[in-house]
Amino acid sequence: MSLTPARPQDLPGVDRLLHQPAVAALVAQHGHSLVADQARGLLDSLRRQALDGRLPAAAVQPDALADALAQRVAQRLAPRLQRVLNLTGTVIHTNLGRALLADSALQRLLALMTGPNNLEFDLAAGGRGDRDSVVEELLCTLTGAEAATVVNNNAAAVLLTIAALAGGGREVIVSRGELVEIGGAFRMPDVMAAAGARLVEVGTTNRTHPRDYAQAITERTALLMKVHTSNYAVQGFTAAVDEATLAGIAHARGLPLATDLGAGALVDLAQWGLPSEPLPQDKIAAGCDVVTFSGDKLLGGPQAGLVVGSRAAIDRIRRFPLKRALRVGQLTLAALEATLMLYLRPERLRQDLPTLRLLTRPAEAIRAQALALQPALAAALAPRYGVAVVALLGQIGSGSLPVERLPSAGLAVTPLQKPGAGRALDALAAALRGLPLPVIGRIHADQLLLDLRCLDDTAAFSAQLPTLQAALA
Ligand SMILES: *Cc1c(COP(=O)(O)O)cnc(C)c1O
Repeated sequence: MSLTPARPQDLPGVDRLLHQPAVAALVAQHGHSLVADQARGLLDSLRRQALDGRLPAAAVQPDALADALAQRVAQRLAPRLQRVLNLTGTVIHTNLGRALLADSALQRLLALMTGPNNLEFDLAAGGRGDRDSVVEELLCTLTGAEAATVVNNNAAAVLLTIAALAGGGREVIVSRGELVEIGGAFRMPDVMAAAGARLVEVGTTNRTHPRDYAQAITERTALLMKVHTSNYAVQGFTAAVDEATLAGIAHARGLPLATDLGAGALVDLAQWGLPSEPLPQDKIAAGCDVVTFSGDKLLGGPQAGLVVGSRAAIDRIRRFPLKRALRVGQLTLAALEATLMLYLRPERLRQDLPTLRLLTRPAEAIRAQALALQPALAAALAPRYGVAVVALLGQIGSGSLPVERLPSAGLAVTPLQKPGAGRALDALAAALRGLPLPVIGRIHADQLLLDLRCLDDTAAFSAQLPTLQAALA
């Protein structure tokens, strides 16, 4: 092999490259446009390297060019949205897609989406139907509400509720203790403004009383609202007004009461030793006219915003023009219907709902899994890193139950050479993210922590260890 670098004129033209036998097969498989496009890109980049005198002669050989082109084509066709392994310890992780869909929901999608369906077609009457009716009855059965509707996510549900019930500059009364920021752009005062409502704050950060709401009601008031402080806790000398009391105050003045639950579990999580989240059915029973919650948090379904409540309030929300802009598609409805169906068989829920299965995995089982995996990971990372089985504290995630931690277990990876330990840790995290099935852990106190609570498939992790070892070499 010559060490003389290749010159630009050693490179073939696009046409000649495309007519090489190995490349012709690529064209036959993918068509001319994509392969020619990538061939142009490849030759451009090689030409620049040749001009700089840093293109090895071997790189312009026909086989090397064909391989490089095949690799570029494969890269171009690789989906940007990929499966990953969530070893962060946060089960419902917003950056990692939140709840995992149940098998039955996946099966419904597969079965339904290969043909047309009755999304907005009334099969009994033979005419136009309403897409809400796909899940309305189920939602009413499960929550005791009179009516229900579904939109894109819970942020949309809150926006739409406020706009429909209090838009046009009318007033919404909210406690100062509940002016939540859910993340980035979703802050209650901004949502009020975006919905065209005027926020009237009452009470203080730590204490709000029934009289605070009652005294704030004027002829401009359109809605009383409660917001579940899902991602923070106010502790100590506190007072808040519950929905039943607030419903009494609102209804005495002919006003509706809405409550935003955020996560909104449909079953009491305490039966599995998890901390309790407020239940929509309790809020309906307490007299709320509208209750909003997420589809992809504790419910364990697809991204959606569920709105349940009184017939009168839901009708106003459904008729409001913004509803059409925020409505869900058939993929969501199919997955949501299948997920809600699981709640009709509560005794089986823990097996059937992956999110609940992961949340309720005992720490001992996770520890046993960590012990089994430790030797192989230690071997793959030796001698630069040490691997230990450790007890960890995970969390439910998505702002649910922020104060409660989930006792868990996993592997702690420590760089063994002190100088450069930070860089070694970053390199390891990057190598894990670069795997064909990317592994996402968390760095804490100079260690990379891999919480195994959400590692359903140990084999999928172990199978990648040779690739990880090679990437770090
Ligand atoms: C998460 C959350 C939202 C937003 O729900 P998305 O489904 O993420 O749009 C709104 N309110 C509360 C209290 C939440 O916890």
